[in-house]
Amino acid sequence: MPIASPSQIPVGVDPRRPSIARIYDGFLGGKDHYEVDRAVMRKISTAVPEAVDIARGNRGFLNRACRFLAAQTSITQYLDCGSGLPTAENTHQIVQRTEPTTSVVYVDNDPVVLAHGRALLEENDHTHMVEADIFTPSAVLENDTVRRHIDFTEPLVLLHVGTLHHLEGDHGPEIMRAYIDALPSGSHVVFSHFFDPEIPELTEVAKRIEQIMVQGPLGAGRFRTRAEIEEMLAGLELTKPNALSPPGIAVCDEWWPDGPRVRPLSKAARCIAGAVGRKP
Ligand code: SAM
Repeated sequence: MPIASPSQIPVGVDPRRPSIARIYDGFLGGKDHYEVDRAVMRKISTAVPEAVDIARGNRGFLNRACRFLAAQTSITQYLDCGSGLPTAENTHQIVQRTEPTTSVVYVDNDPVVLAHGRALLEENDHTHMVEADIFTPSAVLENDTVRRHIDFTEPLVLLHVGTLHHLEGDHGPEIMRAYIDALPSGSHVVFSHFFDPEIPELTEVAKRIEQIMVQGPLGAGRFRTRAEIEEMLAGLELTKPNALSPPGIAVCDEWWPDGPRVRPLSKAARCIAGAVGRKP
């Protein structure tokens, strides 16, 4: 299949290189992907047919965590790092339903995300889109637009959902420490990450996907253990993920699920974990 014609390609997009934002959006049912993205999606789905459950589990967690924080806290500022392409339910739509003046700043560096985000948000005075490298915390924390719309003397919600596994290298804990250090007391962090549950039959599924992501053109996509993920959340009081589990990280689909499950979780769905933490 040919790649998109030049007139359809937003400025700054190289249609010969796959984009994690477009691939993730494709798994969620979006339409903004090119053949180069679909080739990676096919490879992943061939290796693990239920891999789509990772994207769905992650997005469902993001939505429920936003709803939870909008309802359970009085925080009215959200900094969403690695926001991704707009889909049906985005952070600002969820939290502004509870409090319409809630300030939401999205940060991403993918040109397709930036183009769609800016178009979508043009008519919303309380939502803004920033281009910055989320793996360089100072670039986000010192950004003028971020500083104009997020008051770092008042509690805020920081989201790093489905982002740090795309980092090349192992300095995730340092990156998150810089963000968490910058948060005032009472702030909350929403976090998710590809998860290696350290159960052989699940680790094997995680490794199959990881191999495609790390060795392929994306170059990153690491599944980490509970201890490795918890290291990135040091200094936070983690909330209980559901009535039955102790405070901590949980498989995304098990973080306050909306209702009784009518079928068991697939192996892939158990390879993405999330947490919500409060800075004391
Ligand atoms: N947070 C959204 C969610 O969970 O539904 C989207 C997650 S998507 C898997 C990861 C997003 O992080 C993509 O939109 C990608 O462009 C963005 N991203 C990856 N590396 C980045 C970087 N260094 N700086 C800014 N954004 C980045």
